[in-house]
Amino acid sequence: MHVRDFQEMMHRLYYHKDSRRSVKDTYDWLLDEVEELGDALQHRSKEELEKEFADVFAWLASLANVVSVDLEIAALSKYNNKCPKCGCLPCECLP
Ligand SMILES: [Zn+2]
Repeated sequence: MHVRDFQEMMHRLYYHKDSRRSVKDTYDWLLDEVEELGDALQHRSKEELEKEFADVFAWLASLANVVSVDLEIAALSKYNNKCPKCGCLPCECLP
């Protein structure tokens, strides 16, 4: 499955709900899920981590759907086998 396929699946599953919510509210849901991922990184099992990563990815896709951004195009336009800052693979930017 490609990123676009996942985003389209999220559209089929949730767009009817996501489109009725404000962009800000969808963004806030994403932030809540990122916070839960942060907690999971501190204390949880790998299984819990996987669930939280899935939630963050799902809400990121939902937010992208609401604002009509194709995540696959956006990601590969910026990160296409090279660092967007130094242009190298692997990245050679100073820390
Ligand atoms: Zn770099």
